[in-house]
Amino acid sequence: MTVDVTVVGGGISGLACARVVRDAGGAVRVIDRGRRPGGRLASRTLDGRAVDLGASYFVVGDDHAGFARVVADWEARGIARPWTDTFSAFDADGAETRKTGPMRWATPSGSRSLVLDLADGVDVESGREVESVAPFRVDGEDAGEVVLAMPEPQARRVVDGIPVASQEWEAVIAVVLRWDERRWPADLHGAFVNDDPDVSFIADDGDRRGDGAPVLVVHTTGAAARRHLGDPDGVVAPVVAATRRLLGIEAEPVATFAHRWTFARPAAATGEPFFHSPGLSLCGDAWGASAAVRTAWSSGDALGRALAAS
Ligand SMILES: Cc1cc2nc3c(=O)[nH]c(=O)nc-3n(C[C@H](O)[C@H](O)[C@H](O)COP(=O)(O)OP(=O)(O)OC[C@H]3O[C@@H](n4cnc5c(N)ncnc54)[C@H](O)[C@@H]3O)c2cc1C
Repeated sequence: MTVDVTVVGGGISGLACARVVRDAGGAVRVIDRGRRPGGRLASRTLDGRAVDLGASYFVVGDDHAGFARVVADWEARGIARPWTDTFSAFDADGAETRKTGPMRWATPSGSRSLVLDLADGVDVESGREVESVAPFRVDGEDAGEVVLAMPEPQARRVVDGIPVASQEWEAVIAVVLRWDERRWPADLHGAFVNDDPDVSFIADDGDRRGDGAPVLVVHTTGAAARRHLGDPDGVVAPVVAATRRLLGIEAEPVATFAHRWTFARPAAATGEPFFHSPGLSLCGDAWGASAAVRTAWSSGDALGRALAAS
């Protein structure tokens, strides 16, 4: 089959791009190396329950009208739900304040469900790691317009002489901590941790998913992740100690799991909506004003519209 567009990368930006092209009548396929699409919207089943390892939540934002429409549809179908506008913030001494901000959204079935929903009806090949990309070619085959919907350092691995500036990305290790019962305040929701060497954010996974499971997902600082990139399990002990100290939890967790994100977030966003040159384009969360789920969706959607129009 001849394809008009091949999207390499089955995260939310790649699927947003593919859907627009498909909806405009183009022949599009998506290739992703993971077992299932999702990318950094990753939910992994641990002890029989999906746990969010990547994005903690998403915000709709005022300047993403297309994304707002998609989110309204997800809400109507029970795929996403408003979670909370209030988190705690801990300072270096462990003092806690409550901070209200924009509504943060979460998913009852895990964040991967957002991407799986976008993938419905799209030709997706999972479990294939693309090795080489050139304009109009993927692994030596005709591919139509090629879209690399992934962090730039990952794109650089497969394209010789990639025509965009190199970007710096920060690492994060996500640590899942499960207790025998819920041992923290019901209204915690989540907590920003400032000036801790190991922990940057704590999310109450049972609260955001709505099933009340006694599970926290803790994101490390970039510095702690860098120290433990070769040994992610090594960060578990200091993360457990900091989490117990901050939340006043006396018991040890009954299960732990660490997941490494080498390219978790770009150090700076490009400000451009996407990159396009004939036969080779890039989109994703670094393409926009600030890296986030909504930025990734908007980047893929905008690139898909541009490709469909041409
Ligand atoms: C720990 C963490 C916390 C976060 N917290 C938040 C948050 O609270 N709020 C928020 O809005 N955002 C958050 N984010 C960011 C959010 O997850 C991303 O902005 C968004 O998911 C990026 O989507 P994407 O499609 O651009 O890239 P990705 O999701 O990274 O998709 C890229 C895809 O490309 C695939 N791929 C790479 N190389 C190849 C190859 N050679 N062949 C085939 N496939 C390949 C990968 O498997 C992946 O599926 C967080 C991210 C992390 C990691």
